[in-house]
Amino acid sequence: MKIAELHIYSHDLPVKNGPYTMANAEVWALDTTLVKVVADNGLVGWGETCPVGPTYAEAHATGARAALIEMAPGLIGTEALPLALHRKMEGLLNGHSYAKAAIDIAAHDLLGKHLGVPVCDLLGGASTDKVPSYYATGVGAPDEIARLAKEKLAEGYPRLQIKVGGRPVEIDIETIRKVWDVVKGSGMRLAVDGNRGWTTRDALRVSRECPDIPFIMEQPCNTIEDLQKIRPQVTHGIYMDENSTSLNTVISAAGTGLVDGFGMKVTRIGGLHLMRAFRDICEARNLPHTCDDSWGGDVIAAACTHMGATVRPDLLEGVWLAAPYIQGNYDPENGIQIKGGYIGLPTGPGLGVVPDESQFGAPVASF
Ligand SMILES: [Mg+2]
Repeated sequence: MKIAELHIYSHDLPVKNGPYTMANAEVWALDTTLVKVVADNGLVGWGETCPVGPTYAEAHATGARAALIEMAPGLIGTEALPLALHRKMEGLLNGHSYAKAAIDIAAHDLLGKHLGVPVCDLLGGASTDKVPSYYATGVGAPDEIARLAKEKLAEGYPRLQIKVGGRPVEIDIETIRKVWDVVKGSGMRLAVDGNRGWTTRDALRVSRECPDIPFIMEQPCNTIEDLQKIRPQVTHGIYMDENSTSLNTVISAAGTGLVDGFGMKVTRIGGLHLMRAFRDICEARNLPHTCDDSWGGDVIAAACTHMGATVRPDLLEGVWLAAPYIQGNYDPENGIQIKGGYIGLPTGPGLGVVPDESQFGAPVASF
């Protein structure tokens, strides 16, 4: 099964009740990139990549499309098999994993449809059909975040991530304390995500002033060197998110004991093929991790849910989806939804979602 056609789309996803606020960014709408890959047997696979604005990571929407346009002519005629495709893409463009991930996801969708199996089977098999999610609050006032914590606990979310940073650290500490007052004793797990926004001074202070609260610090500071500096001085677990840009970084971070887990994005690491290797490295080292993406619609959501379903359940910190912040679905019938803090695993072949492509308008490029 070879790639016969490749179409690239740009699609706007407005943020419901926006903006979504992080330490270093405020987003009102996201520009997502979709790829439709048509095989020589007529089957169609969909992929997607959607950086959450241009400052979250070294990735941006128009960069994704430029990278896809650069690679597309060379991909026509290539076997639609993930490993073969990745080797081909490495020969066409250095880096830009987040763009390659869209092709990778489409190839998994195609292969699943070709074999008549869901993508989770291609990834080794699901452990559950009810995949835990977690809710991420934006950076907000302490009382408002505590109110959200109460609401999400009642909805059934097993885990909450509080966004912090980009403001006086005293307010972050007050927020963490007020949320803990709400969730203490409930079993809800807590992550405090600095999105690279704290100085090492701030991170050390938060850990020192909240020794009784069992949260993990996700990407508190900007660089790996910052994490190395605070690592021996904090009592809280540290997860790496934005810094884990490749399997090479993951192997070093896991191998040197720099971190206790990861926030991982399917597109940042390069797609499901690489995410599968990441999952297995983490399992070998008993490192918990999330299995999400920075943003995106049903295609990304389905890819993350299939992957998350295959993670050893005690190591899965949840699959975060942008779904609660997005109006509507690409797939009006089987769109991905979070209900009671959990996501139902799609059952159809491939990704199990079929986008209504009339939503996307004309492709920005076709090959
Ligand atoms: Mg994060």
